[in-house]
Amino acid sequence: MISVKYLQAAYDDYNRKYWQGKLPKVTIRYGKCITSSDAVAETFSGGPLKKKYIPYEIVFNRELKETKFECYTVALLLHEMCHVFLHNTGRVSLSHSRKSKFHKELKRIYDAGAFLELL
Ligand SMILES: [Zn+2]
Repeated sequence: MISVKYLQAAYDDYNRKYWQGKLPKVTIRYGKCITSSDAVAETFSGGPLKKKYIPYEIVFNRELKETKFECYTVALLLHEMCHVFLHNTGRVSLSHSRKSKFHKELKRIYDAGAFLELL
C-alpha cells in the first residue's frame, strides 16, 4: 500500500530534482478517475479567455491503493507530473505521441534518470 503522504513527499522530491521546484503544489488523492485510466492530472481553465490550464490535483485510481506494484504508481506519478508541467505553462497536453511536447518532457526526465530508481 502506497500512502498519499508518501506520494506527496515523492512529488515534492521529484519537483526539486527534475523541475527545480517550479511545479505548483497540487493535491494528490485516490479516487475515481473520470477517464477510467489509472491516474489523471486535473486542471481547471482560467485566465481572461479561460484558455489557461491550471493544475490542481493528481488523482490515482483507487484500485491502485492496494497494489503490490508500488513502482508502477510512482512511475505514474512522474508521468502525471509531466502533464502538470505542461499544464502549468498553459498548454493542453492530451497527446502522448512521440512528437508531442508531453513525450519530449517525459524523455527529458527519463534522460535525467528519473525512472532509474524505480528499477
Ligand atoms: Zn498521460
